[in-house]
Amino acid sequence: MKTMHVVQISGGKDSQACAKLVRERNPDAHIVGIFCDTQYEHQWTYAHVERVAELYNLELVTLNAGSVESEVTKWGRFPGGGARHCTEYLKIKPAKDWLIAKAIKTGGKIINYIGVRADESPERTKRYGGYDASLIMPHEFMPSKYPKYMGDKLGIRYCTPIVEWSSGDVFTYLDGEHNPLYDNGFSRVGCFPCLAGGDKEKGRAFNFDSTGRKHYEIAKKLEAITVASGNKPLFNTKIGAKIECGLDNSGAGCAFCSI
Ligand code: SF4
Repeated sequence: MKTMHVVQISGGKDSQACAKLVRERNPDAHIVGIFCDTQYEHQWTYAHVERVAELYNLELVTLNAGSVESEVTKWGRFPGGGARHCTEYLKIKPAKDWLIAKAIKTGGKIINYIGVRADESPERTKRYGGYDASLIMPHEFMPSKYPKYMGDKLGIRYCTPIVEWSSGDVFTYLDGEHNPLYDNGFSRVGCFPCLAGGDKEKGRAFNFDSTGRKHYEIAKKLEAITVASGNKPLFNTKIGAKIECGLDNSGAGCAFCSI
């Protein structure tokens, strides 16, 4: 029975480097790229995900388990702090369910590659710093999210081949083939913007282009729901209020840059 290689791709640089590396190490293998669509991504990211699949010859599987909009509406709050309901229900759970269903159907061994890097944040250093690129049982990778039977009974393994890489290593390895959002002032690529992110990052995205504007309109409608539920508004700082002034008044450029 052949091993099935699965790479989780997001349109960001780390998952792309992971996909590139898995392809280099397995030149003839059938590799599946799983993309969990939050329906709140930039159009460049959607295009980039397709490009990543083409570049590394992946079978692209897009999982749609709802949207950021539906998750915030359902929970009455934006993601933030320890509450990442959108990550949980739009990314972690659908990918897990897909892997389990595939393992049951094929009865074969699955290696699921994830492009996490330990130096990405103190939280990730704490969580992933002890791993190397060898195979990990799913429940060892994320004990609260993955049941033991995924590894024990279904033979699924996780692998984090770039866990020791720096951000610079990743850009060098991609050799200019990264998502163009990085060249436009965005240090992270995920939702556009991540609603759990800081006010500056959110403001930059909302002011960036028509996608940012559209996503701002969605976020403002969601804010009415979060505030009515007694939870936080879209922006939390004075900087946020200034960003909002820019959004309301200008329609062009990032208000934050003029602060
Ligand atoms: S990137 Fe942010 S908004 Fe998007 S799913 Fe993750 S936590 Fe939620």
